[in-house]
Amino acid sequence: MTSDPRAWHAESKAVHPPVADVSGSRPLGVPIHQGHVFSFEDPDALADAFAGPAAAFAYGRLGNPTVRTLEQAVAELEGGAGALATASGMGAINAVLFALLRSGDHVIAQRSLYGGTMAVLGDLAERWGVEVTYVAGDSAAEVRAALRPNTRLLYLETISNPTTRVADLPGLLAAVRYSGVVGVVDNTFATPLLCRPLDHGADIVVHSATKYLGGHGDVLAGVAVFRSAELQHTVWEHASELGATVDPFTAWLTLRGLQTLPLRVRRHCENALALATRLAAHPAVAAVHYPGLPQHPDHELAGRLLAGGHGGVLAFDLAGGREAGHAFASAVRLASLAPSLGGVQTLVLHPASTSHRRLTDEQLRAAGIGAGTIRISVGIEHPDDLWADLDQALRKAG
Ligand code: PLP
Repeated sequence: MTSDPRAWHAESKAVHPPVADVSGSRPLGVPIHQGHVFSFEDPDALADAFAGPAAAFAYGRLGNPTVRTLEQAVAELEGGAGALATASGMGAINAVLFALLRSGDHVIAQRSLYGGTMAVLGDLAERWGVEVTYVAGDSAAEVRAALRPNTRLLYLETISNPTTRVADLPGLLAAVRYSGVVGVVDNTFATPLLCRPLDHGADIVVHSATKYLGGHGDVLAGVAVFRSAELQHTVWEHASELGATVDPFTAWLTLRGLQTLPLRVRRHCENALALATRLAAHPAVAAVHYPGLPQHPDHELAGRLLAGGHGGVLAFDLAGGREAGHAFASAVRLASLAPSLGGVQTLVLHPASTSHRRLTDEQLRAAGIGAGTIRISVGIEHPDDLWADLDQALRKAG
């Protein structure tokens, strides 16, 4: 065996191709670094690569250049010190909760959180000895009253699903300031284009990047953004133990989605407002839930908290109840009947017959959802085509 690569046998040449040197120029497109392992000349430099989330790249679960590019991009958009990209939104949420909580800790959480998050909080309470107090999300006094000496975390969502209530982030986060409580906000529905929770006192922002950040229905990813490098380090350590790391190609697709995020969010908001306004005037519709409408209970708060729009998700209650909801959901043509949200295509969901089908009408009411409630994740299609589709479906549900 010689050290001159040109003299190697075919077997050695095949597994050690010379990696192209790109140091003379800079690729404008983000390269996909698919390899999960990086080599070093100096053993001390390899040892240093295990030190933290900003260290040199050694092993893919601890860090990867394409993934780090996504992390830096989202950290910039949210105004954070750093970020951590994960294999799903639930990966980010679990990494944050399990990194920061231990048995005996107390959490204050909004009552109307995403179902997956509620399930994790339920598990933490039942199996891990974490106490959870649920609050409405509109009263700083209620949060202050719930505070205990062992309160470690306040967990909120900027806009709730499917009733589109807007949380009073500045008020609620101010209620726990100086108490050592970590404020975590799920900003999936608002995106950093409409709201930056760190500017309102949050310590960590989490996203299901599966939704608006990716934006095209082709990735499953998550991101957590941190106010401080210390919080980032703590959660990074835990996330790499959990194995919640996102793969480079998914990170690349998410970065590609991010490039058009401002354009898409503007269009989602314009389309949602146009549809909400027309739905509110339709005789088959009993109520519309969209913070852009003056009759929404959080319209005034949304005007202060959200910049440049009110989001792309709306819900409405059909006067005909459960049967009307089912008929409407089967009648849409341009919109698709599907779970998920935040993509370029319009998606419609009838919670009472799908995601919440096990609940009685009374339980649905307690969750703020009617038997005839329809949720729409409004896409970026032409608003007249969307309205024509909803209008014909409303007639069938009539
Ligand atoms: N947070 C919110 C607000 C969501 O709507 C979802 C999923 O629908 C999640 C978190 C979980 O994200 P993922 O499905 O990417 O794990």
